Amino acid sequence: MNNASLQQRKEAAFARGQGTMTPAYIDKARNAELWDVEGKRYIDLGAGIAVVNTGHNHPRVQAAVQAQLERFSHTCVMVTPYASAVELAEKLNEAAPGNTPKKAIFVTTGAEAVENCIKIARAHTGRSGVIAFNGGFHGRTNLTMGLTGKVAPYKAGFGPFPGEIFHAPYPNAYHGVSEADSLAALNMLFTCDIEPSRVAAIIIEPVQGEGGFYAAPASFMQALRALCDQHGILLIADEIQTGFARTGKMFACEHSGIEPDLITMAKGIAGGFPIAAVVGKAEIMDSPQPGGLGGTYGGSPLGCVAGLAVLEVIKEEKLCQRATEIGARIVARLNQLQRNHPHKIGNIRNQGAMIAMELVHEGDASQPDADLTRALVTQAAKNGLILLSCGIRGNVIRFLPALTITDALIDEAMTLLETSLDSL
Ligand code: PLP
Repeated sequence: MNNASLQQRKEAAFARGQGTMTPAYIDKARNAELWDVEGKRYIDLGAGIAVVNTGHNHPRVQAAVQAQLERFSHTCVMVTPYASAVELAEKLNEAAPGNTPKKAIFVTTGAEAVENCIKIARAHTGRSGVIAFNGGFHGRTNLTMGLTGKVAPYKAGFGPFPGEIFHAPYPNAYHGVSEADSLAALNMLFTCDIEPSRVAAIIIEPVQGEGGFYAAPASFMQALRALCDQHGILLIADEIQTGFARTGKMFACEHSGIEPDLITMAKGIAGGFPIAAVVGKAEIMDSPQPGGLGGTYGGSPLGCVAGLAVLEVIKEEKLCQRATEIGARIVARLNQLQRNHPHKIGNIRNQGAMIAMELVHEGDASQPDADLTRALVTQAAKNGLILLSCGIRGNVIRFLPALTITDALIDEAMTLLETSLDSL
C-alpha cells in the first residue's frame, strides 16, 4: 500500500465532490505529528481542521473512549440515556459565555448544529427571517449552504436554497468594509428586504474560518448584540471553528464580552469524535416541542466521554493560555518570514492559535495569489508539513495546530515552511 495507489483508488471510488487536499494516507498520529502508510512523518498544523485541539490520540481522550467501548457504544440518548450525556450537557452549559441559565442538545455535525439553532430560533420567535454574513461558512446541508456567504465551491449548482435568508457584509478592514458599513448594511436590509420584526436570528462567526480568519471587532459584536436586543432578534454565535480554547478563550465571543442567545459547538468539542451541540439560554432552548430536535446518533456515548475528557485536558493543561502563546510564537516566525519574502507574503493576523498568512503576487502585493497558496500546501507536504488553505480568494494559509504542540515542533514546522516557500 502506498499513497499513490491509494489516491488512485480513492479517485475511482469517491465522487470528486469529496476531494483530497493532500494525498498523504495516514497510518498513525500522535499529538501534532502524523505518519503515512509509507512511514513518512509530517508535522500537522491543521489538526484535522481545528478538531484535535487536544492533539491526536491524547491519552486521556483515548482511555475514556476505550473504557466506554468496553461498556456500550450506542443506545440513543432519546431512548435510553446515560450519565455521560447529562454530565457533558451540564459542563457545556457552564462553559458557555454569560450567566443566563443554559440548556443543550446534542447532534452529530457542525452543519446539523447550525440547522438546529435556526429551528430553535424560529420556534422561539415565531419569525422566519435569518441574516448571515458574506464570506461566512456554516456547512454543506441545504439550509446551511443558504446561510453560507460564498458561492464556489460550496453553493454553485446546488440551489435553490431555502427562502427568508439574507446576507450582510462582514466587518472586514482587509476587504474595505468598516464596522459602520456593516451596521449600515444591516439597517438597509431592515428597510429594503425584511422588517426586523420578521427576523428570527442573526448568525455570525466571531472569527470567520473558511472565509479567511477575520475576527469581527469586539465593538461590532457588542453593537450586534444591542441591535438584536432592540428588535427581539436572537443572536447566534457559530463557534464551530473558534470554540474550545482555539482563540485563547474557551469561546471567541468572550473576547467581546457578549452573551449570545444560542451557540453552535462542534469540531474541537471531542478530540475527533463526531459530536456537536447547540447550547443556549434555557428559555429559548425549551421552545421546540418534545421530539422536535435530535437525531439517532446525537450525543453518542463515545462522543460524550471524549468531550468530557477534552474539557478536563483544556483546563488541566491550560490550553487557552497555550493558544495565546502558540499564536504569538507562530506570528513572530511568520513576521520574520515576511521580511525574507516581502513580495510573496501579505497580511499576517491571528486570534490566539487561529493564525492566517496571506500570499500575494510577486509583482503586485495587492493581488491575492491562490496558485502560490496551493503550490505551498503541496510543497510543504513533500517536505513533511501539513498546511491548510482557506479564504474567499483562496490565498490564505491557516495555521490551526493542536494546542498541545510543543515549541520545538512549532520551530521545526516554521523552518519547513520557510524551506518550502524558498523553493517556489
Ligand atoms: N460552521 C463553521 C464556522 C465551520 O467552520 C464549519 C466547518 O468547517 C461548519 C459550520 C460545518 O461543520 P461540519 O463540517 O461539521 O458540518
